[in-house]
Amino acid sequence: MCGIVGCVGYRDAVPMVLDGLSRLEYRGYDSAGMAVIDGGTLRIHKVKGKISQLRATTPAGFSGTIGIGHTRWATHGVPNAVNAHPHTDPSGRIAVVHNGIIDNAQAIKDSLLARGHVFRSDTDSEVLAHLIALSRAPALAEAVREALGAIEGTYGIAVLDLENPTQIVAARNGSPVVIGIGENEHFVASDVGALIRYTQQIAYLDDGEIAVLERDHFRTLSIEGTERTKGVETVDWSAGTYDKGEYEHYLRKEIFEQPDAVRRTLSGRLEPRFATAHLGGIELSAQEILRTRRVQILGCGSAYYAGLAGAQLIERIARIPADAEPASEFRYRNPIIEADTVYVAVSQSGETLDTLRAVQEIRRKGGTVLGIVNVVGSSIARACGRGIYLHAGPEISVTSTKSFTSTVTAFTLLALHLGRIRDLGQGEGGRLIASLEALPAALHAALATEGQAREVAARYREMTSAFFVGRVRGFPVAAEAAQKLKEVSYIHAEAYPASELKHGPLALICPELPTFVIIPDDELFDKNVATIREIQSRGGPVIAIGHSSALYDLTGEAILVPKLEPEIDPMVLNVPLQLLAYHAALLRDVDIDQPRNLAKSVTVE
Ligand code: GLU
Repeated sequence: MCGIVGCVGYRDAVPMVLDGLSRLEYRGYDSAGMAVIDGGTLRIHKVKGKISQLRATTPAGFSGTIGIGHTRWATHGVPNAVNAHPHTDPSGRIAVVHNGIIDNAQAIKDSLLARGHVFRSDTDSEVLAHLIALSRAPALAEAVREALGAIEGTYGIAVLDLENPTQIVAARNGSPVVIGIGENEHFVASDVGALIRYTQQIAYLDDGEIAVLERDHFRTLSIEGTERTKGVETVDWSAGTYDKGEYEHYLRKEIFEQPDAVRRTLSGRLEPRFATAHLGGIELSAQEILRTRRVQILGCGSAYYAGLAGAQLIERIARIPADAEPASEFRYRNPIIEADTVYVAVSQSGETLDTLRAVQEIRRKGGTVLGIVNVVGSSIARACGRGIYLHAGPEISVTSTKSFTSTVTAFTLLALHLGRIRDLGQGEGGRLIASLEALPAALHAALATEGQAREVAARYREMTSAFFVGRVRGFPVAAEAAQKLKEVSYIHAEAYPASELKHGPLALICPELPTFVIIPDDELFDKNVATIREIQSRGGPVIAIGHSSALYDLTGEAILVPKLEPEIDPMVLNVPLQLLAYHAALLRDVDIDQPRNLAKSVTVE
């Protein structure tokens, strides 16, 4: 959510900041702004609306070799130009951009109001500018440190100061901040994606750290004021992977990237010789795996649905009881943390605050938690310290597609690894490996159903609601598909285990309500056929997603995909439903990559 970009060096910061902010647009925002220092003046430009508007309305001559910018996702005060960041102190000396929420802002504001301060905005963030300006410390880093000492809450910030016009000071607590190291220039951003065009040399700030950026060097210190040495890492995602290329939307691009994303998730991790998966990053010894009595998976949104699939895979393949739960619920129910449970936190961005807090709670109580994360070096990856990186490549569309598939692939690898240390035989392991090896090609073939998915979307153009049902392995696919349709096309959709229909939702079945039935060719096929008949006999249209050509006769409307092993099938069955959501949205002429009210990485509660 929201974003920060800044740069100090030799180039005009304005085009860089605008470009960086546009790379963060996918995170979701409602207003934007920037500040530069230009020959002894601090200049601010803000708008309600998109970066394109910020760019189009930038005053002539608005430039400087030091600047910061922000996209805001309002939490305190309506989205308008006044509440947009940067915020300044009353004298206009300090400019601050802030990501996050200051919990004690009102109390600070009250005490400053009593001292005669005047506030221009309704934001919590403005108090930061006032507090920094109040400090008597001559060095900006010191002033920021003092101000942060009075703050409770979460923040990623970047600060400019007219009296220290060669420095940007950044700090982080709970909201991501990365530093980019260039030649004779330094950058700050809330996401590597904003910087990749300018440098691949990145340092990640930790919570409780402050960075001071200057043209030719940067240093970091702790909030207590001690110097910290920061490792610099080279990120291997190239700038091109962030572009839409020939595609009209990131969503369609990312759906079509799935064969490659899965190939990368699998790369170097299959060990056919021992019919197992090699997962160096999980750091669990064979003894620890033998002692594990439960696996508990935590995630939010699609990460949670991928977790539902993951729990089934672990239970079936490794024969360890496994469950998935929304991370947001888990953290608030005072969970019992058990020494013989392995916890798994799932997050594409690695910044989902609800999941991060769940991880911190588990660790605080001494539990073992693995991260399944796409963004290398992200907060959850670092908080877990062990896990599996997806290597799916950047996912820009707010609606996740390839990260879902790569996450389920990673869970299959984990299940295989755990299973082969417990009682999964060599033959069974080999069967799964062969199927995983065939997965990219099967996903590729499933992409060829796009024409059918488009036709179905057109036929049900008028639908205002849809059901998605599946049994056991089909249910996480149904849940994910309902989520996709809702998010991207704004059509109401619900998912049920097929067996649950007759326990309530069947009352809604009627000719206007299509039901998408996930019906693989497996031992539950006949049960699912019975569900289809149940719906049809009440006049409900059925669209079957499965493997068997018999489905054409049964429903008249079926989309078939290649069949793999039953454990692997859900990932392939999901593809036509992703394409359905995309085409349903296309017909409604909505903002496909940035659905209303949603953000890619939900870094606030
Ligand atoms: N809480 C701040 C505001 O409402 C910052 C929101 C953000 O992270 O963009 O302005």
